[in-house]
Amino acid sequence: MDLYDKVMDLAKRRGYLWSSFEIYGGIAGFVDYGPLGCLLKNNIINKFRERFIVKEGFYEIESPTVTPYEVLKASGHVDNFTDPIVECKNCLENFRADHIIEEQVDIDTESLSLKELEEVIKKYNIRCPKCGGEFGEVKKFNLMFVTSIGPGKGRRGFLRPETAQGIFIQFKRLAQFFRNKLPFGVVQIGKSYRNEISPRQGVIRLREFTQAEIEYFVHPEKKEHEKFDEVKDLILPLLPAEHQLEGKGIIKMSLGEAVDKGIIRHQTIAYFMAQTMKFLEEIGIDREKIRFRQHLPNEMAHYAIDCWDAEIYTERFGWIECVGIADRTDYDLKSHMAHSGEDLSVFVEGEEREVEDYEIELNYKVVGKIFKKDTKVIESYLKNLGVSDKEKLVKELNEKGEVEICIGDKSFKLTNEHLKIEKVKRVIKGEKVVPHVIEPSFGIDRIFYCLLEHSYREEEDRAYLDLKPEIAPIKAYVFPLVNREGMPELAKRIRDMLRENKIIAEYDDSGAIGRRYMRADEIGVPFCITVDGQTLKDNTVTVRDRNTREQERVKIEELVDYLRSKISSL
Ligand code: AMP
Repeated sequence: MDLYDKVMDLAKRRGYLWSSFEIYGGIAGFVDYGPLGCLLKNNIINKFRERFIVKEGFYEIESPTVTPYEVLKASGHVDNFTDPIVECKNCLENFRADHIIEEQVDIDTESLSLKELEEVIKKYNIRCPKCGGEFGEVKKFNLMFVTSIGPGKGRRGFLRPETAQGIFIQFKRLAQFFRNKLPFGVVQIGKSYRNEISPRQGVIRLREFTQAEIEYFVHPEKKEHEKFDEVKDLILPLLPAEHQLEGKGIIKMSLGEAVDKGIIRHQTIAYFMAQTMKFLEEIGIDREKIRFRQHLPNEMAHYAIDCWDAEIYTERFGWIECVGIADRTDYDLKSHMAHSGEDLSVFVEGEEREVEDYEIELNYKVVGKIFKKDTKVIESYLKNLGVSDKEKLVKELNEKGEVEICIGDKSFKLTNEHLKIEKVKRVIKGEKVVPHVIEPSFGIDRIFYCLLEHSYREEEDRAYLDLKPEIAPIKAYVFPLVNREGMPELAKRIRDMLRENKIIAEYDDSGAIGRRYMRADEIGVPFCITVDGQTLKDNTVTVRDRNTREQERVKIEELVDYLRSKISSL
């Protein structure tokens, strides 16, 4: 049994994690959180809320998981959210083509096209790991679950592949809520769905999982962070892209130095790296098993200009991506602007001044034939450009004779022939800008598993979960030393008193006391309270510490305060 098996065995037996649909044979990529699992997961999420909503002043919203086609077409997911798939000609089992290759030969598949992946499979005679059969063609497989909204054919829709889009499409309302003042942060915590091709990594790769995402909207030219000074001296283990390309390892560097040297693109990304580290440590992830890895240029999502993953080390799977912190630029807002026709810019107030502006229109006689259905999208893109964006566009057009604009996953080349441009003078008191967004995206299920693994301890006579009292699902167990002399009744009254005071407590009177301690230790209960002979004389109980096994006598009337101070001091 490796560590993963040991942790999962405990998790299954004791009500943390269960295989979903088990009585019908189970399906890979789904997991149930049992009674203790739900408590622990909620405690992790509460810590997330405490850090980002209470301390940072962000606000949370909740949008539907069912999402109409148009939204995910605009975001690029309909066309781009794909993985390469390959089918065995013999047993018809499907596999992820890049994974199958990387498992058998030492090749980086990141930037290979479908054709190239197919060539590699042929060249190295890579065969089906199940039956040894030959593989067919490598194809694209879209990872979104398809659904239809309403009866009959209904409206085409998908289960959302990320929570972020729900925030982008409500940007107008959100900007109003924040009174158009940048920067501001919005959080969404909820389920996301990805129809992974053949998830074989247990709880690490799920088809339905919980994300906690922050979309932090900033002025495109102001990516400094006002609280950066508070974190600039924090030293983090970094694995920059350049180091990976040169085969070098991790460097430990302060965030201030990493930003100064241009390793981390700007202060806001670095600030969120610091907050991510603090959050992970706070819930109990081993700080020695956290590193920040920068995406290689060919690995970055098409919309991102810099991305750092917080990776956590696990024994079976090595380093796994648990949090992604990316600068998504204005990609999403601009594509939703173009596709919906809504203006998703904010007006940033400034000094009153006269500026040269441009009125840019399409030359419909020419463009209709060329851009066809896309004409409308290009038109609303141009209509919503701010003064400085228009200035850039005109400058480039004058210099190069053409300009390329990117809307979602498409790009269009425009020349003077396509556009009618008129120079005008205007008095403005500020400017319309489409904000950029910095996105820290947390995968709660992966963090949950890593926390269990990092908390797992084995000693000669017991295995236990070293969960921090604040995070542990059950805070206290109450035992009667023997099942007579009124001890069980008193122990139950103490349990009820703790519950009344919002401390989750349980009662157990079965088996020898030593075994009861072990059972509580195994699920990570930090405190075991025992009612014994002395309790009946002086109203004190013993409180045993899970890790040290040391016991203290505490007066029953002081028990609540005693536990509270221990639980919240951590
Ligand atoms: P992404 O949008 O791909 O950057 O994912 C954001 C975060 O969600 C990742 O850092 C992971 O922690 C988590 N995540 C992504 N895909 C899965 C999956 N299939 N199962 C569980 N967690 C996932």
